[in-house]
Parts: sequence; structure tokens; C-alpha cells
Amino acid sequence: MKLKVLITDNLPEQTFEIFRKEGVEYDYRPGIPWEELLEIVKNYDGIITRSRTPVTKELLERARKLKVIGRAGVGVDSIDIEEASKRGILVVNTAGGNRISVAELTIAHMIACVRGIPYGHQGILNGKWHKKKLFGHELYRKSLGIIGLGRIGSEVARRALAFGMKLYAYDPYIPQSKAEKLNVKLLKTLDELLAVSDVITIHAPLTEETRGMISYKEFEKMKDGVVILNIARGGIIDHDALFEAVKSGKVGAFALDVYPEEPPIDFPIRDFPFMSLTPHIGANTQEAMENVASMVVTDVINALRGREVKSPVNFPLQESAATPFVKAYKKLAERMGKLFPALFGLKTPVIEIELLGSAKNLGDIVKAYFLKGLLTQITDTHVNEINAPYLAKEKGIELIIKTGNGLHNFKNIIFVKGYDGGKNKMAGSVFDEKYYRILNIKDFWFEIEPRGELLFFETIDTPGIIGEIGYKIASRGYNISDLRYFTRRKFGLGILKLDKKPERELLNELKNLEYITNVAYVSL
Ligand code: NAD
Repeated sequence: MKLKVLITDNLPEQTFEIFRKEGVEYDYRPGIPWEELLEIVKNYDGIITRSRTPVTKELLERARKLKVIGRAGVGVDSIDIEEASKRGILVVNTAGGNRISVAELTIAHMIACVRGIPYGHQGILNGKWHKKKLFGHELYRKSLGIIGLGRIGSEVARRALAFGMKLYAYDPYIPQSKAEKLNVKLLKTLDELLAVSDVITIHAPLTEETRGMISYKEFEKMKDGVVILNIARGGIIDHDALFEAVKSGKVGAFALDVYPEEPPIDFPIRDFPFMSLTPHIGANTQEAMENVASMVVTDVINALRGREVKSPVNFPLQESAATPFVKAYKKLAERMGKLFPALFGLKTPVIEIELLGSAKNLGDIVKAYFLKGLLTQITDTHVNEINAPYLAKEKGIELIIKTGNGLHNFKNIIFVKGYDGGKNKMAGSVFDEKYYRILNIKDFWFEIEPRGELLFFETIDTPGIIGEIGYKIASRGYNISDLRYFTRRKFGLGILKLDKKPERELLNELKNLEYITNVAYVSL
């Protein structure tokens, strides 16, 4: 029997060639009426949709042969993923494919805002000749600070280099070598980037760490007349702080494609010549649409042919098969993955996991869940245990799994190590087949449940330091429900559980304390 795929939304013509080459039949029925779709869905092995066609429980109940649902795009809100998973149907979507379009829009915005092009254009339409008002700047020889040097940030760097800009980046999760290849100077802290940049462009995901990352304090640290762009995600820049910085003259020009609320209601800045605004159109090009379409068709065919898929969204029917011990190990590995970049960074993105005792056979599971946890901290792409190894590879993160001896009196234990001189280490174990615990960080042994709002700090150990930290935390109204502090020679490591998520100001205050060398926060 030939495989058959139904396409219920618009796809560009050239993607049909992929079906023909692979010998897979397809029916192209964009805008098919719902009743008819319910009637014929039983004949198909795969279905490809955009957001216009909902894939509901009702539809899935009738789709007796269906093995895969492809979403041309990223959002999967229109698909009942739980129902699909229960029925063993794989859901795939497409991430990436739009990097060039978004990078080009960034460059367009950069030029448009420093020269006041939208203002001049609007003036002409309104019969005004703003020649004197529009006295802009060149980009040549200016320093560009890129926050997030991933797919899009890298493409922006390549283009900005051709303009003769000096390139800097802040991205704690990429290796030095990646920045060097792009002729970008990788800076250690966000503050360094804020201080050095004439133009700042954001290409980081919206995560716990980046939400509100650019606020009042950060604007204060920027150069006067700074140019700032956000083409990534609304919410990374605090807009109240941005508007105040525009009004005070701190910001000389700005451009936005994304907003905390979309569409923005009543945009407060109207008569500012050096701004450029677009309605979240970063990926709106013919080419990005074609890339996304080819990617989803390829993935759907790969799934039907039993080959590896690039962007799976769900994990059909696997969960119920796991024993409590395996389930606990999944949780432990995922939480250790979340802790890893916060505690150790990813400057040398080679990580080794050693499995001992009854954990020895869990290599694949530990790898998938550890990478899932790690990636959710550093990307807003949909990450799960299936696509995590693939996404990690794409980001140059290498994970080596080995088994070993030397159980330290535990029945099972895993050690996670960064390949950077051996300092960055942690260990975890599962007790009584179900209780998962972190047992070691940086060679200090203890036992803590990785759950809740965890704050880690490193110190140059000095009398009074714990009192000072406790005071700062209490004076901002937080309760500490657990506290551990370990010292070895002059080095101190502290772990605190807080009753609620700490504000950025508290973290900054702690970082600025004299004897504190590192502060990391993770919500587990
Ligand atoms: P990517 O995952 O390839 O790159 C993101 C980079 O940000 C990574 O290198 C990561 O290490 C880095 N990063 C993570 N946390 C960081 C932090 N706290 N500080 C600094 N850097 C950090 O993603 P991408 O495809 O390049 O996309 C970047 C952003 O652009 C995403 O938020 C994405 O949602 C957004 N985007 C916007 C549009 C649009 O229409 N405007 C379209 C596509 C993507």
C-alpha cells in the first residue's frame, strides 16, 4: 500500500516535488471544508497543516491510519498533542528555516532607525519635509553588541561585518571558538556588552533568564545615544524602561519587531524620528515560508519511512512503559541538565556523564533528558527528549556517555562533568527506586532534592558572608527554606531554597557583594 499524505493548508508548489521523488502520494486540499475533512481523514498516513486547520480529538478519532502530523511553522496550539500522543501519532513542526529572513530584517531596522527612514517616509506622505530633523549616523566603525549569538545572531554578525562594524557578543552558552570564527569578540558579562556597544541587537530566546533582561539598570550602563533593537521576543526588553530611556535621550534610536503584548495597544512614543517598528514580520518572507514547507514535508516523509526526524514535538506512548526507577532517572537527568549551564556555563561544550551501578543501562534516557533540561534553559525552541540530542548537535554541544566503577557506597549514581579542567562536576542518584537527589557539586558531598527555587552562590570564604547574604535576601521579603554552605580552602559554595522566584535586582545585589564570585538561580 502506498503511503498517503493530506495537505490541508497552503504549501508552495516546489515542495510537491519531494513527495514525487520519495514515491509518497499526496492530496493538496487547502481550505478543505471541516465536514469533508472528517469524512476522508481515515484514508491518510500523514497530514500537514498550518494554524488554520485544527487537529482536534474529533478529527483524530476518525484518523485510523494516521501516523504523523506535520505543522508547517512553530506553534502547535492548534493540535491536540495529548490525544495524538495517546494514539501513538507523532507530531512534527519546524524550527529554524527563517534565520536569513530575520537577520535581513534586523539589518533593515538598524539602518532604518539610525537614519530615521520611517519618519521621513511618513513625513512625505503627510506633506512634511523633515530634512533638518533627520540627522542620523553611519554604522561604519560602530560597535555592535549582539545578545545571543545563535542562528540569527550569527547571520546578523556576518552582515554587520560587511558594514565595517566592530562585533561583540554576550552569549554564555556558546564556545569561544564559534565567536572567533565569526570575527566576534565574546564578552564574559552583559554589563561589558552594554558598556562597549553603540548598537545593541537582541537575538536570545525568551527564557526565565532573559525575561526583562534589559531594564532600567541596564539602560543606565549603556552609552549615551545607544541604538537598541529587539527582533527576538517581546518581554526581553522592559518597555517602560525603554520608553523612559528614549524620553531622557539615553536611547538615540530603536527598532522593534516584537512586543510584550502583540499587537501593542496604544504605543506611547509617537513623535520620535529615530525609530522603526514592524508587526512581528521577521519570518514573513516567501523564502522562509518555502524553507519551512520543505522542512515539514521532509520530516513527515522521514517519519513515515521510519527515519530520524528533526523536529518532533511529542513522544507517543513511551511514558507508560517506564518503571518508577526509570521515571525518577528521567527527572533527575532533566534537572541536572537544567542546573548544568546555570552552574558551570557552556564555554567548553563537551560534557561527560558517567553511569554507575543500576544506572548503567540508562545511557540513552539520561542523555536525552539531560540535554532536554539543558536546552530548555538556553533556547525557546520547543525542546523534548526526542529532538534534544539533535538540537544539541546543531549547537555544537557534545555529550559523552560512559559507564564506570566506584559507586561511593550508592546503589546507583551518575556523575556529570564539564571538559574544562575537571572543576565543573556534579552527581545525582535515585534512592528507594523513586527518590531522586543531587549529591555532589564541585566535589562537595551533600543531599538535596532538586526542586523549587534554588539559588547557588560561590564565595571567597570570609567570616560574616552568610549573614550578609541572609540579610539581603530577608530585606527583600524572601524566606529561606533550606540553606547549605560548604568551604574548602578559601572557596565557599552555598545552596539556598527560596520561597519564591528571586527578582533580578536581588540577584544583581548578591552578585555585587564583595566576596561573592558567582550567583546562579534555577527554578526546578
Ligand atoms: P538560537 O537558539 O539559534 O540562538 C539563540 C542564542 O541565544 C543561543 O546561542 C543561546 O545560547 C543564546 N542565549 C540563550 N540564553 C541567553 C542569555 N541568557 N543571554 C545571552 N544569550 C543567550 O535561536 P535563533 O533561531 O537564532 O532565534 C533567536 C531568537 O529570535 C529567538 O527568541 C526566536 O524566538 C526569535 N525569532 C524571532 C522571529 C521574528 O519574527 N521576529 C523569527 C524567528 C525567531
